Amino acid sequence: DNTSLTLLGLGDMGTALARAWLAAGRSLTVWNRTPGRAEALAAAGAEVADTAAAAVAAGDLVVVCLLDDASVREVLADADLAGKDLVDLTTGTPAEARARAAWAEERGARFLDGGIMAVPPMIGAEGSGGYVFYSGSRSLFDAHRATLAVPAGTVYVGEDPGFAALHDVALLSAMTGMFAGVAHAFALVRDEDVALKDFAPMLAGWLTAMTGYANGVAEQLDSGDYTRGVTSNLAMMVRGNATLLRTAEEQRVSPELLTPFMDLMRRRLDAGHPDEGTAGVVDLIAR
Ligand code: NDP
Repeated sequence: DNTSLTLLGLGDMGTALARAWLAAGRSLTVWNRTPGRAEALAAAGAEVADTAAAAVAAGDLVVVCLLDDASVREVLADADLAGKDLVDLTTGTPAEARARAAWAEERGARFLDGGIMAVPPMIGAEGSGGYVFYSGSRSLFDAHRATLAVPAGTVYVGEDPGFAALHDVALLSAMTGMFAGVAHAFALVRDEDVALKDFAPMLAGWLTAMTGYANGVAEQLDSGDYTRGVTSNLAMMVRGNATLLRTAEEQRVSPELLTPFMDLMRRRLDAGHPDEGTAGVVDLIAR
């Protein structure tokens, strides 16, 4: 593929992307607001542009990986995007991605949004499991798939430019809940005679064993039968929650990370759904 490639934004993620493309032998033009960050890449073979507009002019495929959507708008303000293929790997909301897509198309570019499901060390590392969600122009994605696949796996999730961000943020939101649970678990055991390095793999193993739960919730939501395939029902889980809370109290750990979800489980149970799992909580919080 000899499409000319430009990358704007050389933070931790942008630098990792640049290194992956250079390592694959791709010629690459880069630009960063703080020029010093481009020096090591120049030594590795990248062309360094003086301005963002010049960097855009040098590439047919223009990838941006900046702090946030506002910085993307600012950086591309003076660039001529006509005829360009613009890929925005900056994390943002679905609405921001849709607005950025309309903005780019008005200026004559094809637009693809990306949500990176990886941390910088996973970029360009074969078998790391890292990948990028893409949404927006299917023709752009198809034309540049091989280039996009160099730094990480590619998962196209639809023409709606907001879908990559939607998938990205949904996964990150679930991860946030998991991190909250990990913090609570460590708070329970830390001040006891428990070796945290032995406890950690038990915790990780248990979380891994539970991840299939998501598939059951999907089946329940799709079928409308929230009792389908339930092995641990809500009545039992709410009783169990009381034990979790009493243990927190005994260990003098604040229950504040657990109680919002437990309150919703209780509300769904009280509404008369003892045989469901937790899928009904989705109905309580979704608009
Ligand atoms: P960094 O903070 O390391 O880098 C931010 C980049 O944005 C720098 O190149 C910075 O330039 C530039 N920037 C910020 N504001 C402006 C502005 N107003 N005008 C011009 N340039 C600006 O962030 P990362 O590289 O880690 O992240 C980049 C994107 O990738 C983010 O959207 C992030 O959410 C996403 N991402 C990052 C992951 C990670 O683990 N790091 C994981 C998944 C996604 P300067 O050098 O001049 O400050």
